Amino acid sequence: MAEFKKVEPVKILMGRLRHGGDLLEELTELCQKQNVQLGRVEALGAVKKARICFYEQKAREYRFTTLNHPLEITSLVGNVSLKDGEPVIHTHVTLADESGNCYGGHLAPGTIVFACEFTLEVFAGPALVRDFDKATGLPLWRMSN
Ligand code: ZN
Repeated sequence: MAEFKKVEPVKILMGRLRHGGDLLEELTELCQKQNVQLGRVEALGAVKKARICFYEQKAREYRFTTLNHPLEITSLVGNVSLKDGEPVIHTHVTLADESGNCYGGHLAPGTIVFACEFTLEVFAGPALVRDFDKATGLPLWRMSN
């Protein structure tokens, strides 16, 4: 059965990220500076290059892929929660090349912004806290207590 907590929307921040900034770091810094501990994020734009990863479920480790060319951010969907008391952004991204071929995965540091427009929805409610999950080896939301 699905486990969940009820959260309430507080506000929505819309803006753009710095040209040349690291996509994941810019979003994380935004949450730190605005004291966002719970929320969801979406964005679109373009990157100069990208670094994404795929979680190898058997090996329980991320496999990284670097794409050293310009790409469109056709979709970025993620959330904000807490890990070790700090806001952490978990986001997946789909990126398209000049032919429309797409690459997708878990966004990693090393993705450099060309232009990026974001929408960050901030929620109030009990904090969702990431903790080691035995079944997956991932830092997932702890849903009980
Ligand atoms: Zn992920």
